Amino acid sequence: MIIVLLGPPGAGKGTQADKLAARLGIPKIATGDVLRAAVRDGTKRGREAKSYMDRGDLVPDSVILGILQDVMTSPATKKGAILDGAVRTVPQANGLGVMLDEIGKKVDKVLLFDVDDDELVKRLSTRTVCEGCQAPYMGRDPGTSCEKCGGKLVRRKDDEPEAIRNRLEVYRRQTAPVVDWYRDHKKKVLKIDADAPVDDVTARAVEALGK
Ligand code: ADP
Ligand code: AMP
Repeated sequence: MIIVLLGPPGAGKGTQADKLAARLGIPKIATGDVLRAAVRDGTKRGREAKSYMDRGDLVPDSVILGILQDVMTSPATKKGAILDGAVRTVPQANGLGVMLDEIGKKVDKVLLFDVDDDELVKRLSTRTVCEGCQAPYMGRDPGTSCEKCGGKLVRRKDDEPEAIRNRLEVYRRQTAPVVDWYRDHKKKVLKIDADAPVDDVTARAVEALGK
């Protein structure tokens, strides 16, 4: 099963993708994580993406479609994938659709996590993430250790106030139209009220997916 997670930055896509991946037994694919690893490793893709990411802008569609092509044709996603933040523009939604069609697959479900802006800003400005496995945390100080892999928790550069403001604006301008694109292409978008405790949001998502 291929599930696309949509929603603004801070809506909890990464948090819920981890929960759903464990529950459904299919991997989480977060393009943000792939890009941050590429930046850390200094690859060509990472060098191309870094300045966009630091400002909170979207990296070019060609870079994302290259990642999606690699990932969706890899044996790791044979049983499906939870695509976290991997579809952020209409050309990406279209490109992913074409690519999946060519390999006899399709997007099965689209989940939209809904949270209002004040809560998003609060979450992003207090988020820490693991430098190693990139798990997101709330209420944990930078410098403390990741519960999952023991890595160091750090603040993301794009969780500074100016980049947060830009990312919310970029979401409205470039990503929100993806919701209508899926609806126009006969995909039901399952909207989840994600302003609730993490486990409640997971329960809502599982129910919406009919799992
Ligand atoms: P996204 O991947 O959509 O940007 P994250 O999953 O990284 O969002 O979550 C953003 C921040 O909000 C993280 O610090 C995370 O721990 C926290 N968070 C996630 N879900 C919730 C929730 N339901 N309630 C409160 N905080 C949450
Ligand atoms: P995220 O970890 O999902 O918050 O993504 C962090 C940053 O990576 C974004 O602000 C973008 O700069 C970049 N990024 C991740 N996924 C995409 C995508 N599908 N399209 C364009 N840029 C992306």
